[in-house]
Amino acid sequence: MKHHITGLHHLTAIATDAQTNINFYAGLLGLRLVKKTVNFDDPTAYHLYYGDAAGTPGTILTFFYWPGASRGVIGAGQPSAITFSAPASSLDFWAERLQRAGVTATRRSRLGEDVLGFADPDGIPVEIVGVDESRLGWTGAGVAAAYAIRGLHTTELTVRDPAPTESLLTDHMGYTLVQRDGNRARFEAAPGGPGRYVDVIGDRGARRGTGGAGTIHHVAFRVAGDTGELDMQDRLNAAGFHVSEVRDRQYFRSIYYREHGGVLFEIATDVPGFAVDEPAASLGTALKLPPQFERARAQIEELLPPLQPARLAS
Ligand code: ZN
Repeated sequence: MKHHITGLHHLTAIATDAQTNINFYAGLLGLRLVKKTVNFDDPTAYHLYYGDAAGTPGTILTFFYWPGASRGVIGAGQPSAITFSAPASSLDFWAERLQRAGVTATRRSRLGEDVLGFADPDGIPVEIVGVDESRLGWTGAGVAAAYAIRGLHTTELTVRDPAPTESLLTDHMGYTLVQRDGNRARFEAAPGGPGRYVDVIGDRGARRGTGGAGTIHHVAFRVAGDTGELDMQDRLNAAGFHVSEVRDRQYFRSIYYREHGGVLFEIATDVPGFAVDEPAASLGTALKLPPQFERARAQIEELLPPLQPARLAS
């Protein structure tokens, strides 16, 4: 059977304040802000996308902002960390840069890799795994190519009973088990490598995660185009998952379903990408609205707080 999923597309998390979030992810971590748009279900709130130069699938991290929202709890039934990769020799640089910014980081070894762990301003666990790979990082934010974050490394899913989640990955989504250590199992989509891993953590005693600020809302997997997406929709429906209709997300087209452990999964297309409504050179600089909101641009802009470019960490 042909497998359509080639790895991670994006992670979407919930933060409280867009400017604080930009300063952290674009300023301190040096990601490119590749799209400034609104929540399509609530155009009075921003939806920001970070990634590499082009916003390549597998490098994308997106945030919704719920100012004043009650905090969620990270726990079972959710992605439980935002895990990036950067060159193996860059972790000292990152540890020092984070420390200078007042962010406490701890170093550990996991599955044979060096991992630097810290938390973002909303308390979401963030990690940088030191690994050499072929993807290039974004250097436009002032982080040298030798240190720049390359993209997402893995997505960690915490579930109480890992068996059904693992079967979904291997039996229906084309993932292969590559490593198991304690209660962590790493799966990989072909052709393999960073950006194509999923780690399943089985933790029977984990408290149930609840959505809200400071949590990761869902994980999206990538397929090349609509043919693969529709085939995955058929296959997953046939396997008993309740898969949504295809939704047009302007920069990709998506289907959604919930896996047995409670995590919301999305499958998103690589096309059309972030250059569909603004030049690749100036991604993320102007507020982009989907056609249905363009008529209301003046009112929307008035309701959104003004955003400044990231303050670069000194
Ligand atoms: Zn998504």
